[in-house]
Amino acid sequence: MQKINKENLQSFFQEQKENWPLAKNNYNGLEKVEEKEFQFEGFKIKVQFNPERIKSTSAKVDKEAIEKRACFLCEKNRPELQTKIELENGYSLLVNPFPILKQHFTIPQNEHIDQNFINHIGDMLNMAECLEGYSFFYNGPKSGASAPDHMHFQAGENGFMPTDSEYINLKKNNGKLITYNDRIKVYSFNHYLRKMISIEADRAQDIVSTCKILYSSFEKLQAEEKEPLLNAICIYKNKKYCLHIFPRKLHRPSQFFAEGNDQLLISPGAVDMGGVIITPRKEDFDKITKEDIIDIYKQVSLDDFAFDKLCQNFTKLVML
Ligand SMILES: [Zn+2]
Repeated sequence: MQKINKENLQSFFQEQKENWPLAKNNYNGLEKVEEKEFQFEGFKIKVQFNPERIKSTSAKVDKEAIEKRACFLCEKNRPELQTKIELENGYSLLVNPFPILKQHFTIPQNEHIDQNFINHIGDMLNMAECLEGYSFFYNGPKSGASAPDHMHFQAGENGFMPTDSEYINLKKNNGKLITYNDRIKVYSFNHYLRKMISIEADRAQDIVSTCKILYSSFEKLQAEEKEPLLNAICIYKNKKYCLHIFPRKLHRPSQFFAEGNDQLLISPGAVDMGGVIITPRKEDFDKITKEDIIDIYKQVSLDDFAFDKLCQNFTKLVML
C-alpha cells in the first residue's frame, strides 16, 4: 500500500489519462466546457455546462433501481482500464471518468457498504491531511450521491469551488461564530443562499467530536431519515482542518421534475453546494437565471427555522 501524496497522485492521474481512452476523452472535453458566473452580494455562483454528467444528474437512486443495477463503484464491475491506488482504512482512489474538476477523484470503500458520513468522517480528514491542496467532498444518500449504496468520497483541486476561496471573507462579512474554545471554532452562514456550518480545528479528533454533536442534533430534526440530509466539503490548509457542512431538506428541486420549458435538470450535490451548479443540458445552462439559482438553493437547503433550531441545539450540546 502506498502512502498517498501529491506526487504519486499526479503520476497516477497522468497515467490514467494516457492509458484509459474514456478518461482521456472526457478530461480533454472538460477543457471546452462552458462556464458562466452569477454575482451575489459578497460571493458568486458558477454554472457549468457539462454533458457528460447527465448519467449522474439523472441517476435513479430509489431502492428498486439501485438493486437492479450493477454497482459501478464495486471493483468487480469497474472498467478494466480503471486502475487504483490503495489507501489506508480500506479505500481505493480512482480517477473519475466523468469529471467536473480538472482532477477529479472518486474514493470508494473496498466493501460495498451504504454511504454513511459520520462513521467515516475520520477517514476523510485523514485523506485531506495527506493531500493538502485538494478539497474532499461527500454527498449524502439523498443529497446528490449517485451510488448511495456504496460508501465513497470525492476529491478535486482546491479553489475550483467558490466556497474554497470565499470562505475567509465570508466569515468576516457573513458568518456568525456560534461556538468556540481553544481547540475549535464553529461558524454558521445563514445568508449564503444555501445554509452552511463550518468547523475549524488543528486536530482531526476535535473536528470529529464536534461534528458528531452537530450530526446528532441534526438527526433529531430528521428522525425519519437514515442519515440527515447533508453535503460536506473538507480542506486541510496551513496545518488546520476546515469542514463545511451543508444541511439539506430536499434531494432534488421541483425544477428537476418539471416538464417542458419549466424543467431544469439539476440535482445538487456537494459541488453545487460549494457554488458550482452543474447543468448537463445546454438548454438549462442557457436559460438558468439568478432567480432560479436562489430558488433551487432555497428548496434544497434547510429552512431558516430548522437551521436556527439546529444551531441552537448544537451549541447547547457543545457547551455541556
Ligand atoms: Zn458497490
